[in-house]
Amino acid sequence: MQYVSTRGSAPALDFEGVTLAGLASDGGLYVPVEWPSFSEAEIRALRGKPYWQVAVTVMRPFIGDALTEDELTTICRQVYGEAFHHAAVTPLVQLDERNWLLELFHGPTLAFKDVALQLLGRLFETFLERRDQRLTIVGATSGDTGSAAIHAVAGRKRTEIFMLHPKGRVSDVQRRQMTTVLSPNVHNLAIEGSFDDAQAHVKRMFNDRDVTATLNLGAVNSINWARLMAQVVYYFTSALQLGAPDRKVAYSVPTGNFGDVFAGYVAHRMGLPIERLIVATNVNDILHRALSSGDYSAGGVTPTITPSMDIQVSSNFERLLFDAGGRDGAAIAEQMRAFEASKAMQLTNAQAQGAATLFASCAVDQIETARAVQLAYQGSQQIIDPHTAVGLGAAHALAGAGTIDPQVPVVTLATAHPAKFPDAVERAIGVRPALPARVGDLFGREESFVELAGDYATARDYVLEHAAASGTS
Ligand SMILES: *Cc1c(COP(=O)(O)O)cnc(C)c1O
Repeated sequence: MQYVSTRGSAPALDFEGVTLAGLASDGGLYVPVEWPSFSEAEIRALRGKPYWQVAVTVMRPFIGDALTEDELTTICRQVYGEAFHHAAVTPLVQLDERNWLLELFHGPTLAFKDVALQLLGRLFETFLERRDQRLTIVGATSGDTGSAAIHAVAGRKRTEIFMLHPKGRVSDVQRRQMTTVLSPNVHNLAIEGSFDDAQAHVKRMFNDRDVTATLNLGAVNSINWARLMAQVVYYFTSALQLGAPDRKVAYSVPTGNFGDVFAGYVAHRMGLPIERLIVATNVNDILHRALSSGDYSAGGVTPTITPSMDIQVSSNFERLLFDAGGRDGAAIAEQMRAFEASKAMQLTNAQAQGAATLFASCAVDQIETARAVQLAYQGSQQIIDPHTAVGLGAAHALAGAGTIDPQVPVVTLATAHPAKFPDAVERAIGVRPALPARVGDLFGREESFVELAGDYATARDYVLEHAAASGTS
């Protein structure tokens, strides 16, 4: 399978190339040159298969020759047979006659990002081994991505990771999930300043010749195609359990960077009968505005009880604009240039109509979010995290408004374990969710991190001095 950039001028790459590249060299995002498609019979044949086997079948066409059948099978068995603490990997839980939760938090760091990053860590290792190269991952995190990425590469031979987080501005659970990983290839940097400052340092490092001359830099944010591909799998496993391909299913997806919900769009393009994809946002609602009125304009970020969805610009949305709008790379390059200059743009008619056939959207405020936590607890005895509650709140609102056919089951993606956000949950229902036993000693473990001043040079010099790949450590 070949991949092309949404901005039309970067070279086409194969799966190995896009996995290691992350962003395309023209600033665009890679998408497959065409969507593989599965017949109803092929989908039906996946019923009852273990998760790892569905993963092999669904991901196979995207990977093409980049992995042999044996390599792909081995990786999927390792990741989805060992790294998750539930035999079903992503189990479905029924809330009421119509609503279901798809629990995506049974990985090592209790959020859905593990499902893809555990795979990505092993893909990196396989491709780097083959090329006899090393990779230095540099990233910034406001919480969930950092810990999932660290757990994905800890202890691996050919990758090392420098993760910047804003000092004192991530939760205790989130910090400890990063800093208690004591492998020598993991470097936690607590930076003075905000998440945006840390993120700006990372972007600058990717363009700093002093860094790129000595280090082969890699990225793990959700612009990486391999992450989205891995997330397509659980749309298949869950829809199959609810009767696909003979019955349609709708999904409500708590959304930030449009990664998880774009994976649902891909599943639909591949032939999975998805009735609707609900894009559920918090009050940072750029995506809701874009999908309901065509207005894609960025404002300031309002901090909420769902921090992993507090975004200003949603990077993966460009993939939908490209695909739904007719795959015109030059036009997307122009549209994104205009957006970067003015922080606002209007969707074209083709883009808006292309999206409207599948997507619905809803913005859920903090009061409605807390109410959804209460409803799940009182009505179904389920303790859910606030991000999941945004999804469930949107599902209730749109089902009530008649947007979704009443015969269709609605699956809300449960993107984090409630114990990751215990304060907001306790405020809503008066019960403090406990960490699962497997991470229960998190607060007793030793931490390792360095505290650095907030300027760019300090962070850059630290990375250069401590990167094993530079030969100076
Ligand atoms: C990252 C994250 C999201 C948002 O996912 P996107 O793929 O960026 O849309 C939602 N909920 C939780 C708990 C997350 O960690």
